[in-house]
Formats: sequence, structure tokens, C-alpha cells
Amino acid sequence: MKIIGLTGGIASGKTTVATHLRRLGAPVLDADVIARQVVEPGQQAWREIRQTFGPGVFLSDGKLDRAALGALVFADPTSRQQLNQIVHPQVQAVFQREIERLRAAGHRLVVLDIPLLLETGMDCMVDEVWVVAADEATQVQRLQLRDKLDEQAARSRIAAQMSLADKLKRADQVIDGQAELEVMLQQVEQLWKEKSL
Ligand code: ATP
Repeated sequence: MKIIGLTGGIASGKTTVATHLRRLGAPVLDADVIARQVVEPGQQAWREIRQTFGPGVFLSDGKLDRAALGALVFADPTSRQQLNQIVHPQVQAVFQREIERLRAAGHRLVVLDIPLLLETGMDCMVDEVWVVAADEATQVQRLQLRDKLDEQAARSRIAAQMSLADKLKRADQVIDGQAELEVMLQQVEQLWKEKSL
């Protein structure tokens, strides 16, 4: 079975590509969804976060206070690293389990939708890296439109990520996230046909 890692910068079009791949019949595993599941109350990562960061990053109902934890790790690289060391292995374990389940069910291809695929080193889990590429002007425009960010806020989010140039160095396939929607989706269909045969 071939494991594809789908990634790209913020607002590049990853979710749009992943949704289309699902529509075409590809099993797509979403890292953001899994990252939320592994910190649900009672899960191992939830317990470890409580031991490491204390009750201050939890809400009164026991759920993780994502805003509080986000503010903490944004301001402190050591905390960020600690949090990643707790969450990433759990996310990887879920990926491995799901991959095995899909393999056993006879699937020949699985897509892992991982925004931080290259930054987290999770690319070691995949056979191919697909990068959705959109330039900064396009990202800024979409962030302004979709998330109502002003230009400066949009640029600082983009600057916090690995550059597109560095992502492209690691890409096995580049999906043109700047192309018109129909053209981009056609490219995705073409890739799906090639890979799933
Ligand atoms: P994020 O990193 O913030 O989760 P993303 O990479 O998943 O973003 P999408 O949410 O798929 O990106 O797309 C960002 C915005 O751009 C959305 O509003 C989407 O509808 C739009 N969009 C995506 N692809 C195209 C395209 N090829 N042409 C025009 N608009 C597009």
C-alpha cells in the first residue's frame, strides 16, 4: 500500500484537495482531527499534559483549554517542544493503527493530511510527499477573505511556517494551489488515477 503525505502552507488549499480526494474514494486521515482526539479527557496525552503543565491549561469540565495551552506554548519554545513530545507519538500511533486497518481492508493507497508533515518529521511515515503550493500573495488574499485577518496578521502566520521553497525541495508531487479551482481539482483527479491503479 502506498502512503501519501499531503501538506502545504496555511490557506494553500490542502483541505480542498483532501476533500476532493475523499470524494474520489481515497481514504484520508486528518492529523488535526486525530490531534484533537488524542487529547480528549482520560487519554494518555491528556494525562501527560496534565502532569506536565498542571490544571491551569484545563477547563472546569476537564477538557483541554486550547487557548490557554496555545498561548503558553506560543510564548515558550521549551513548552512547545514538551507538548509536541507528548502529542506527536500519540498521533503517530493512531496513524499506524489506521494504516494497518486500511491495509488489511485491501486499500492500495492512503492519504495522510498533515499540515506540519515536514516540520514534525512525520514524513518518515510516508512513501510520497504531495505539496499544495500557493504563493504568499495568494495565501494573504485567502486569509484576509476566509479568516478576516488583516494583512500583517496574515503575513506573520505565513512567516511562522516553513517556507514554500523548503517544502518544494521535499515534494514528490506539487499540486498547484493557485490554479483555478476546477484546474486544481482536475490535477488531483489525474494524480489519484495514476496512483490508485
Ligand atoms: P489551512 O492551512 O488554513 O487549514 P488549507 O491549506 O486547508 O488552509 P483550504 O481551506 O483548502 O486551505 O483553502 C483556503 C481557502 O482558499 C478556502 O476558502 C478555499 O475555498 C479557497 N481555495 C482553495 N483552493 C482554491 C483554488 N484553487 N482557487 C480558489 N480558491 C481556493
